[in-house]
Amino acid sequence: MYRQKRRGGSQNQRINTSRFINKAVITEQIEHFKPEHRFEDFAIDGRLKKNITTKGYTEPTPIQDKIIPHILKGSDVVGIANTGTGKTAAFLIPLINKVLLNSKENIIIMVPTRELAIQIEQELRGFTPMLGIFSVCCVGGANIIPQIKALRHHNNFIIGTPGRLKDLVERKCINLASFNTVVLDEADRMLDMGFINDMRLMMSFMPKTRQTLFFSATISKEIETLIKDFLREPVSISVKTGDTSKNVDQDVVHVRGGNKIELLSALLSKAEFNKVLIFGRTKHGVEKLSKLLSQKGFKAESIHGNKNHSRRQKALNLFKDNHVQILVATDVAARGLDISDVSYVINFDIPATYDDYIHRIGRTGRAGKKGKALTFIE
Ligand code: ADP
Ligand code: MG
Repeated sequence: MYRQKRRGGSQNQRINTSRFINKAVITEQIEHFKPEHRFEDFAIDGRLKKNITTKGYTEPTPIQDKIIPHILKGSDVVGIANTGTGKTAAFLIPLINKVLLNSKENIIIMVPTRELAIQIEQELRGFTPMLGIFSVCCVGGANIIPQIKALRHHNNFIIGTPGRLKDLVERKCINLASFNTVVLDEADRMLDMGFINDMRLMMSFMPKTRQTLFFSATISKEIETLIKDFLREPVSISVKTGDTSKNVDQDVVHVRGGNKIELLSALLSKAEFNKVLIFGRTKHGVEKLSKLLSQKGFKAESIHGNKNHSRRQKALNLFKDNHVQILVATDVAARGLDISDVSYVINFDIPATYDDYIHRIGRTGRAGKKGKALTFIE
């Protein structure tokens, strides 16, 4: 169903383009949000508290503030919050503590994309220097052999995409019966990407008595069904603050008869367009646009499904580390990515759905900062 929806080109016209125009307001709640807890207040290991401080986190975000105590208590939780609100640390901090209490603890984190898995592992590493906590990333597109080797050792955290995890379970490299904790991150995206059967299968291999943490940016009938099937008396935390779209300045650019590429080049030559994420509709279109921009002398990279994992990661890192000005991406490839200080998101091709639009512009204006987004309209 998802595929049909995305391929239906005429769908575009149905999005009212006025929804792409919005003046950014840094939401009151972000600026004045008073967390109930400080990180010191949480019942967590002192070494972990120290690492949180070293990482530069001074106070919990709203979702962290509300959900961490429940996870520490061992409850199942559902966390619904927009992108960029700190959901990763909301589950990592209490789970790292769980491992510190019992070094034999096995935790599985299921995510929709390889990039997201790697990002979570990086965040995990940021919290765990000197703590003797081990992890492995099991993602598709990457060579499976090193993953199989890494799985021979004990890992406290396995972070992976449903398809590859299933493969590794079938090869008997992972025994899900020994995992008492599971995180389903970006569950809505996993559904969108057609991972539902793999997810259900993985969950069926896990012990009935376990802790299940479920995170999603959106809620739907299907999501509610999953929650009912996978979780036991969950505590639901829904946080509306940090509405990414509100702190993003959004405007449209009309390209009537004009040359889209020329227009784009003119924008990219301006100083304020120093770190730009451009969205295209198709893998092929994204690759073509990135090549064209390179030919015009811009430093541009691309990420899309026709690139293998290591090339995508390389392109992403060049962009993250400010070695290239531009990253051109498809919706799927850019999902959930956390890149700091993206100055502009440009929708070179109109997104297929408003939901895609929100996800795209959510790549800027992160962590309470102001961002900018432009949508090209033909
Ligand atoms: P989400 O999963 O909700 O989209 P992320 O977990 O990717 O959001 O976090 C978004 C950004 O906010 C990341 O760069 C992360 O390092 C940062 N962040 C998360 N929690 C805090 C905090 N308590 N203080 C400061 N920055 C934070
Ligand atoms: Mg996330």
